[in-house]
Amino acid sequence: MPKPKSVSRHIVLTSHPSRFGPKPIPIKWGAADPMQRGPVIATLAKQTHRNVIGTHSGSYAIYRALAVASGALQSDHRADLTNTSPVAHIGPHPSWADPEKIVSLDPFGAIASEVFASYYQQGYDIRPTIAITQAHINMPELLDAVSKGRLQVDGQIMKANGDLVVTKAAIEPVWYLPGVAKRFGISEGDLRRALFEQTGGMFPELVTRSDLEVFLPPIGGLTVYIVGDLSAITDPHKPVAVRVHDECNGSDVFGSDICTCRPYLVHGIEVCVQTAQSGGVGVIVYSRKEGRALGEVTKFLVYNARKRQEGGDRADAYFTRTECVAGVQDMRFQELMPDVLHWLGITRIDRMVSMSNMKYNAITESGIEIVERVAIPEDLIPQDARVEIEAKKAAGYYTTGDILDADGLADLKGRSLEG
Ligand SMILES: [Zn+2]
Repeated sequence: MPKPKSVSRHIVLTSHPSRFGPKPIPIKWGAADPMQRGPVIATLAKQTHRNVIGTHSGSYAIYRALAVASGALQSDHRADLTNTSPVAHIGPHPSWADPEKIVSLDPFGAIASEVFASYYQQGYDIRPTIAITQAHINMPELLDAVSKGRLQVDGQIMKANGDLVVTKAAIEPVWYLPGVAKRFGISEGDLRRALFEQTGGMFPELVTRSDLEVFLPPIGGLTVYIVGDLSAITDPHKPVAVRVHDECNGSDVFGSDICTCRPYLVHGIEVCVQTAQSGGVGVIVYSRKEGRALGEVTKFLVYNARKRQEGGDRADAYFTRTECVAGVQDMRFQELMPDVLHWLGITRIDRMVSMSNMKYNAITESGIEIVERVAIPEDLIPQDARVEIEAKKAAGYYTTGDILDADGLADLKGRSLEG
């Protein structure tokens, strides 16, 4: 493969501000006026323009590096954004102008090329961190819900073949470091140092460039699926249903029966459709936080440890086994999760399809009211997932049913590895 001409053989270190001469365009996080707020500029083509740490595309930045290294991509390729603008308008909402309400995404991320057009014309390489499009989705369980009379075909939201018409938004993480630190009650310095050290020193600017306060972390983002009328989100007279779902590839896509993820996700979609059909709106937030953000390798190690422990897979040892392998029970840190709800302008959730006390606390503490919590219907829980759901209920997950005591949890067994 031919090497692109633009690949520089000269390594430019990003860690010393004095190299760059004039200061980059400042970012005033939380400013209501986008021109005052300033664009997020993570271009790699022009070092002097960069006003953030890190780069676009989250973990996919590494594939882009491979594409450049292998000669498949010009390192200075500039995106042609013709016809890429959002299909639906979201915001601005009052929450956008609060530097503490949203700290882990750029509220102007979807309309960057529009509100920062003048910078774009001056040659700044500004890229959207949010994209909003439309789709038809189809999940067989929804057709089943139609045949059982729980969902109606209306030809608008739900088509006769089971297609669901949705608006969907993909969101890349954009972290305002002072705000993220504050959310966790830690110092910005401690946060920067841990991010620097725990990525093997991947981003030296975290510790050398305190003037750069925004970080595009190399992690997965999230996707929002919206069913029904978007304007119902901010209409106090119309109902809003929400499910906040953390990725579980094994169950969500492949139907693994050790957890309740896909059944609960589909139930969330069903509640969203019902709410949309009654004049409201349904929102599914799908976060790339596989295996409680511990990753799938850790997750599968834990599955083995659970099923091979003395006495087999038991609800009373559910959390202990995760902690043995990972050192913690959970690394999803729901503290940042409500940001996307504030980006959408949500102030009240009428039907919250989640039993997680961590999600509930994070959302309500961020100032959003939750009216009703919707547990997963009993008949949707796979037999082998009983261990998980009963352990979670005993640990504080929302339920209207009974909670098992210590003996009950010890008696509740999952399938063995050979089963
Ligand atoms: Zn799962």
